[in-house]
Amino acid sequence: MRLQAPGAPLTLSELTLPPPAAQELLIRVEACGVCRTDLHVLDGELPDIRCPITPGHEIVGVVAARGAAVTRFGEGDRVGVPWLAWTCGVCRYCRAGLENLCPQARFTGYTRDGGYAQQVLADARYCLPLPADRPAAALAPLLCAGLIGYRAYRKAGDGENLGLYGFGAAAHLLAQIARHEGRQVFAFTRAGDREGQAFARSLGAAWAGSSSERPPRELDAAILFAPVGALIPAALAAVRPGGRVVCAGIHMSDVPAFPYRILWGERSVVSVANLTRADGEAFIPLATRLGLTATVERFALADANGALERLRSGALQGAAVLEMPAN
Ligand SMILES: [Zn+2]
Ligand SMILES: [Zn+2]
Repeated sequence: MRLQAPGAPLTLSELTLPPPAAQELLIRVEACGVCRTDLHVLDGELPDIRCPITPGHEIVGVVAARGAAVTRFGEGDRVGVPWLAWTCGVCRYCRAGLENLCPQARFTGYTRDGGYAQQVLADARYCLPLPADRPAAALAPLLCAGLIGYRAYRKAGDGENLGLYGFGAAAHLLAQIARHEGRQVFAFTRAGDREGQAFARSLGAAWAGSSSERPPRELDAAILFAPVGALIPAALAAVRPGGRVVCAGIHMSDVPAFPYRILWGERSVVSVANLTRADGEAFIPLATRLGLTATVERFALADANGALERLRSGALQGAAVLEMPAN
């Protein structure tokens, strides 16, 4: 399912992929998660979108063939393909362990073809081993919502009271980790989203309400998943002095002006960009060990546009996942 031009719906196309290059895997896709970033690609909200492009960067699949230089994975292994597809390895960021900031980095489903497809080619050095004994659709949301969400979670520090703005695919996974660590989760949804608030409470949130409300306790940190710039001042007003607001998305609407006093008191606002391979190697085993459960709505590959619209509408609970027909 490919994007031919920003703003257009995806269209079903037949392509024949070349054999894998030396460092590549040819992967038979079992499932691919639908991420908010895919909407930003579709809507042309990210720079330099290369069309046509196949979106999708939460890929679970099985190795069908491998290039001559690949040693880590073998045919039949289940692998995950995350957002970070390739980095240069020599720039100041790559050398400092910050390959997520590499200016030459390539991204799955954005600058190279992703997983809204029956097959995908991926650089094996950026793929992650996945357990074979869990349904593919349940693993897919771990590959971005979980993984980049966890990078944001760690950036938020270890305070007890954590606010999550936008209770979707990432937040519903992080809430489980936070509860496991004995932290209190305060979930913020769109105004009037009673179902979303009930969903958050069912996953252990101590409180759930609208993002315009003040939580019953001062927050130590807040993570913003909703792409709404006005949430930055809202969250700043809810965090304590010294607290932190972490912006986890790749795109946000403009941030409205706000009074300096809500930032004062050594509060900070930071963003999270992409992931490193080390994030993936740390997060996937943690998610497996904790038994993180992704709530998913399954869609057929050909219904990718329907899945994206369901995500856009805010009606989705948890994550949308595309499941592929056998090749
Ligand atoms: Zn680099
Ligand atoms: Zn994503």
